[in-house]
Order: sequence, then C-alpha cells, then structure tokens
Amino acid sequence: MGLDRALANNGGVKPLIVAGDKGYSVKSVFEYNTNLGVASAFPYRRWNQTEPVHRQPTDLYDEHGIPRCQSCGGETRFLSNAIEHRVLADGQETNVPRQWFTCKLPTSPACKKKQSITLTANPRYTLPLWRTEEAYLAMRVSHHLYERKHRQMRMNFLVGPDDKSIRPKRFGRAWIQLRASAAVFVEWIRVLARCGWDGSGESVVGLPRPTSDGGATHRLAQVRARRRQSGGDPPPAVAA
Ligand SMILES: [Zn+2]
Repeated sequence: MGLDRALANNGGVKPLIVAGDKGYSVKSVFEYNTNLGVASAFPYRRWNQTEPVHRQPTDLYDEHGIPRCQSCGGETRFLSNAIEHRVLADGQETNVPRQWFTCKLPTSPACKKKQSITLTANPRYTLPLWRTEEAYLAMRVSHHLYERKHRQMRMNFLVGPDDKSIRPKRFGRAWIQLRASAAVFVEWIRVLARCGWDGSGESVVGLPRPTSDGGATHRLAQVRARRRQSGGDPPPAVAA
C-alpha cells in the first residue's frame, strides 16, 4: 500500500493525516490508517443504496464523527488517543484504538468523568483527528491542488491514459506501474536539472537564492544557459 511505502521513505515517521479521493473512502482503508493512529481525510461515500446521502449523527457521535457526551449528549473536548492491546477469547491478540474525551459543559456528575470510544467500531465516522481540527480542514482544501498532478502526468507521459493504441492485449497492472515509475523518474531528473544538477553525482548546486522575485530570474538564466549549451535555444533578447 502507498502509505507503507511513504512510511518507509520517511524513516517510519507516521503522518498526522493522509488525504485522498472517494476511491479511498472505504472501511478497510479508514481502519488501516486509524489502527496506525493516522487520520484519513477522504470525502464521504455511500457504501450502498440504503446508506444516507450524507453522514448521519448517532447517540455516540455527531455527523462529523465527533463523540457526544455519553451523559448529556452535548459537545465534547478531545483529550487523547491510545492503542489498547487486547487478548480475545480464542487467544488471538488485537490492538484497539481508543479515544478519550470529556464533556464541554458538564451538567451532571457523570458528565465530569473521562469518557472514551473505540475508533474502529465505525472507522468511516470516528477519526483520531477530529474533522473540526484546522489540520484536517487544511488537508481537505489542499487536496484538490494535488489532484491536478494526476492529469498532468496523464497529459505529459500518458500515465493511465484512455488510449487504445498503447493498451496491451493482456491483463495486469505491471506495465501501468512501469509507465508510472518511468514518468516519475523523468520528473525527478527534470526537477534536479532545474535545481542545477549536472549529472556529476555531486550534491545539487546552484539552488535559487532568496531574492525579491523568489529566485525566478536566476532560475530562468540557468535554464537559458543550459539550453544554449545544448544548442536548443537562441540567446536571450537584450533590452536596448
Ligand atoms: Zn455532558
């Protein structure tokens, strides 16, 4: 899974939250992330025709999956998450993510107690990070910007294209992965070239310096110089 690879590349450091489109909005993905303590920012998706069009509140949590006070039904304040280790009756061991919270406006002695819910009872609703948190909302908004990249890869490198001429006659996703990996490789070479890498194996030199235009003029000069070296671009116009 993509998250496993991201964790490995990141030295095992878990992200606070991951974002995705409706394709990921299924119980198993929510469950997997929640078990790792990672929140999932995916749009709500009906699992079947009998499910409501929007998330619905229950006695335990509201329509955003945020727990309600189990005594008065009022709003709550987040306290912490924890992973409980449990041994089942058949001897199997399992980890259960649990969330602790307290009543925001206590009206009875029961309200003042620490309360908790298990996060995997309905993992598509309850998240380790609440949907009202700034980080969650920022992730929901910024996700649309990354979606553009899929289209760009499709246009530039025909990654996952709707193109019958390059579609192989056999089943399998290995060739799709190969094309996608090659495209990412070419993208990286391009990024490194723009940062001044000359293919020598030395560290990247000539990174843009902080300037009033964010280094844009410097980068443009670098690109033009490189194009001239390869004989592909006319010399820059000089202002009279
Ligand atoms: Zn209460």
